[in-house]
Order: sequence, then C-alpha cells, then structure tokens
Amino acid sequence: MKYLDCHNHTAEWSDGRQSIEQVIEKAKLEGVRVGLSDHAGLTEYLNSNDRLLAYADFLSQYPVARGLEMDLGRNFLVAPTTREKFDYMIGSVHGMSVEGVQLNFGQLIAWTKGEMPNYNPMQQLKSLDSFFKAHLALLEKEYSAQKYDILGHPTMLPPLALGKPEDVFPEWWEDQFLALLKKHDVALEISSRWKTPYDRLMKKGVEAGVKFSVGSDGHDTAKTCVLDYPKEMMRKFGVKPESLFDIQRKVENLN
Ligand SMILES: [Zn+2]
Ligand SMILES: [Zn+2]
Repeated sequence: MKYLDCHNHTAEWSDGRQSIEQVIEKAKLEGVRVGLSDHAGLTEYLNSNDRLLAYADFLSQYPVARGLEMDLGRNFLVAPTTREKFDYMIGSVHGMSVEGVQLNFGQLIAWTKGEMPNYNPMQQLKSLDSFFKAHLALLEKEYSAQKYDILGHPTMLPPLALGKPEDVFPEWWEDQFLALLKKHDVALEISSRWKTPYDRLMKKGVEAGVKFSVGSDGHDTAKTCVLDYPKEMMRKFGVKPESLFDIQRKVENLN
C-alpha cells in the first residue's frame, strides 16, 4: 500500500518553502500519496471562509488530497459549504492559554533546535497538572464545535522540554486524551518532523483502538514526504494499515 502523507505546507499558502509542484514531485520520488494542509487560523493568511474556498479551488487543480491545518484554540469555525470542499481537517495546538498565561510554543521550537538549551516551561506554569487539564479542555471544546479528522504533532507540547516524555506526561492525561480522540473519531498523527508521539502513548493508542495518520509536516523538499519515523513506529507498535486515516474521495493520479 502507498502511505498518504496528509501533512505538507507550501510557500504559496503558508510557511512552506516549496511549491505544490515540488511537493508532488517529491511524493513521486518517495512513493507516497500526498495531501496538502497549509496553516489556517485567525492569525494565518487562510483566516476566512473565502480564502479557504480559494485554497480548495487551487488544490482541486492538482492530484492531491485536500486538507488544512487549523490552529486550535481560536474558535475559527469553518462553514459547512467550505468544509465539504476539503477531504480532511487537521487541528494542531501551536499555543495555549493556561490559567491566564499565554504559552507560545516558539520557545519550545527553539529548544528542539538547540537554540534555547535553558528553556523551562515551568517558569510560566503553576503546575504540570494545570497544563494537561487545559490541554484536554481545549481539545474537548474544539472537537465539540466542529469535526476534525487528525490531531497534528500531538505531543509537541512544552512539557517535552522537561525530560523523557514517559516521566513527564501523566498516565491520567494519556488515558483521557486517547478516550477523547476515540470519542470524536480523530486520528493521532505520527509526525516525522517532530518525532511524536512517544513510545508509551503509541502503545496505549494501539490498545485503545484509535486511528493514526502519518505526516512529514514537510516545509521544504528535503523532508517533505519522508516517512521514516511513522513507518518505524507503525512497525514497532503493530499499527495495521486499516487503522490509518484515509480520504473518502477517489483522486485520479494521486501518487
Ligand atoms: Zn503545526
Ligand atoms: Zn504543519
């Protein structure tokens, strides 16, 4: 089977450094099918239903799956007539408000690149528990407001900077989190770019019977459609191909 890499960005529509033609070319090279999912949200270029319609029109000219990556937590509702032009909607958390403190994940990203070795999210948080509770509440609110298909880079969250995820992410959060995904039929993305989720969450996700999806979160041609990490995790934890998210629409010439 050919994997469907659901998560890719272009320069035309968000912060990618590649054209859609380059993405399609890379997908061929890697032997995967490809979906585009440029950033949407109130602070993005794709910040209105009209612009989303223009984006869907653009994507419809290419043999690709049509997605978008919504910035969760901002209550941007996509009109049903707009939503039906897309094959799926990814929702990702890129920042969060916890007990009145706004956490921007830019520092976390700098930390992952080694640019901020002393980053400690606890300088802004009262407790880890309050963070994880706020995270679950945010997802519940968004999933109750509109249908999402995939949770992008699920554990790309500030506590990652505190140590081994199995020591930092509480099991009560994992259990409630997976139950939430299952209840709302949202797939857990295995992300090449961010190497998430971690082992214990993968194992529990398989046991809980959640759906998965694979994403390179490609922003440039070097990493786009490279799915080494998702393939390794699927093998390691026995994720069956039928547990993977796929689109309903038949797309001609989809790589
Ligand atoms: Zn993202
Ligand atoms: Zn992305």
